[in-house]
Amino acid sequence: MQFMIGRNGNDELNRFLLAVDMVLILLSVIFSRGIGRFLSPVALVLLGFTYYRMFSRDLIRRSDENARYFRIRERVLSALRVRKEQWVQRKDYKFFVCPACKATLRVPKGRGKIKIVCRKCGNSFMGKS
Ligand SMILES: [Zn+2]
Repeated sequence: MQFMIGRNGNDELNRFLLAVDMVLILLSVIFSRGIGRFLSPVALVLLGFTYYRMFSRDLIRRSDENARYFRIRERVLSALRVRKEQWVQRKDYKFFVCPACKATLRVPKGRGKIKIVCRKCGNSFMGKS
């Protein structure tokens, strides 16, 4: 307890790194003759980094890393939510990406070849719905 005072401890990023490490160790055991030989050193380095973060006294830098991890995780989860929503609506709508601004556009399915106008930037292009 006394030792951990003023140290970073286990934050969300460390929990994530430990989970990744467990998967790497498991894979290195399963594929011990093939790719596992390369995975175990990677797992060891990652484990070292995780412990370094846990015992680190540079709380500001560790907190920045953790915040960066949260931003990346939120971006990934948000993209997955969009994909899931598109999957749910796949029978009624077709999704296009605007070639100009990369916005995702939704059009009703089964209208044949149509002109699609982007609501965000006004760009139009042809697409088969
Ligand atoms: Zn656009």
